[in-house]
Amino acid sequence: MPAFKSVPMPTFYDCQRCTACCRWPGQVRINDAEISAMAGHLGMAESDFIERFTRIRPDRRGLSLRDKENGECAFLDGENCRVQPAKPQQCRDFPNLWRFDGFESKCQAKAIEIEDEEEYRRRIVAATGREPFSRG
Ligand code: SF4
Ligand code: SF4
Repeated sequence: MPAFKSVPMPTFYDCQRCTACCRWPGQVRINDAEISAMAGHLGMAESDFIERFTRIRPDRRGLSLRDKENGECAFLDGENCRVQPAKPQQCRDFPNLWRFDGFESKCQAKAIEIEDEEEYRRRIVAATGREPFSRG
């Protein structure tokens, strides 16, 4: 009978709010629910929000947030995000639920090894609002 090996917990990355991910080139993809949440947070009509803060994505399949002229996200305000409580899922998920090779050289999130599955789950839900082991 084969021996079962326990699967190690993934590393949890604790964001240090360095704001690098709000400044590097790219796009923050947003959907209708996120537009609604951000517009509501800013006290704006959704149509005004779309006109002022969004652009068509390069693949033309939806909207993303606009950048400032210096390339930062439109909502980066010093070291803060102006839509923090309503920020898009893409922002919340990085770097725990998506990341790219070599991200550690640009992101200052602290890598924490957690043995306990429930503790790992609790941290992921707190950071992203999503369950870590579900698909989609
Ligand atoms: S929405 Fe907020 S968290 Fe996301 S890139 Fe912009 S400033 Fe950063
Ligand atoms: S996720 Fe990483 S790059 Fe983004 S603010 Fe947190 S520590 Fe910085």
